[in-house]
Amino acid sequence: MSSGLDDLPLRDELRGESPYGAPQLDVAVQLNVNENPYPPSERVVAEIAAAAADAARTLNRYPDRDALALRADLAAYLTADGGVDLDVDQVWAANGSNEIMLQLLQAFGGPGRTAVSFAPTYSMYPEYARDTHTRWVAGRRADDFTLDLPHAHAVLEQHQPSVVLLASPNNPTGTALPLAEIEAIVDAAPGVVVVDEAYGEFRRAGVHSALSLLPDSPRLVVTRTMSKAFAFAGGRLGYLAASRAVVDAVRIVRLPYHLSAVSQAVARVALANADELLHAVDELRAERDRTVAWLRSVGLQAADSDANFVLFGTFPDRHAVWQGLLDRGILIRETGPDGWLRVSIGTAEEMAAFRRALEEVMG
Ligand SMILES: *Cc1c(COP(=O)(O)O)cnc(C)c1O
Repeated sequence: MSSGLDDLPLRDELRGESPYGAPQLDVAVQLNVNENPYPPSERVVAEIAAAAADAARTLNRYPDRDALALRADLAAYLTADGGVDLDVDQVWAANGSNEIMLQLLQAFGGPGRTAVSFAPTYSMYPEYARDTHTRWVAGRRADDFTLDLPHAHAVLEQHQPSVVLLASPNNPTGTALPLAEIEAIVDAAPGVVVVDEAYGEFRRAGVHSALSLLPDSPRLVVTRTMSKAFAFAGGRLGYLAASRAVVDAVRIVRLPYHLSAVSQAVARVALANADELLHAVDELRAERDRTVAWLRSVGLQAADSDANFVLFGTFPDRHAVWQGLLDRGILIRETGPDGWLRVSIGTAEEMAAFRRALEEVMG
């Protein structure tokens, strides 16, 4: 007897869908999911192992449901990075900022409600909306990937979203939004405005974090992750900063004990070693700026980037270019508007290999 998805009472809107994710291929140079290329040092590895062992001694017990010690550490880190005082009850943590975002949609989206973003942007946003039965509306960005404010205002006016999602720096374009534009959206939006700063630590000098807007904006939420700059993608730790009321709302929908004792303990070690784990950020920013300049010098377009990746193109057949690079051992991402490709910033050697391979592919 055949038993496939068709025989199951799968929700109608999930029929024909496939799970999200870039190909996980075993390739020498992996520049496709915006990871930090540097693994932790043996010293940090040993501290993480010791903290995991410590947590293991009480694994018969449930972890701290409210992750208070970890949230206090995160609040201290954000206070230092963003220059605003944040209290532990203005910070919330979960298994990656993907879970944070889902919790936000669970709390503020739902049937009869609308979430809005401006494309091209992070391709997971429509999935959070779908999974929470929230109507999804994608406005558009301008040709240079900045926000088109008059258009954005029109979309907000027409759709009255309970949630607006703004990635800044944006994925896959790398574009950061000026604070004045975020303020304008917060003023115009009837609901919650989420600024996804997954790449916040990579912003260029003079580009500011939306954290500084929090004291005056009770409906603003800033999300961050340890997956990118922190070189902690495998640790699965994302977090948000917002008003106490937003944190209270998210706590209503979170699953009990969602963040394991091991996750909490290990993330605290990573935060205690922030200086070391973040040490490569300046180097990666410089390598990013060099990559943008090089791509332009060979006649390609490259979007200005405040993140650890660059969107470049355009190619009449981008898949052929992606495949040509893969054939040479370089895995990048086929994403973004037609004709564009995205490369994550790796080590200097990896970027040299990328440049050599791309020159070959372009003939
Ligand atoms: C990588 C990324 C995230 C982070 O995902 P995690 O679940 O924290 O690993 C969030 N938003 C954007 C735009 C991203 O690119």
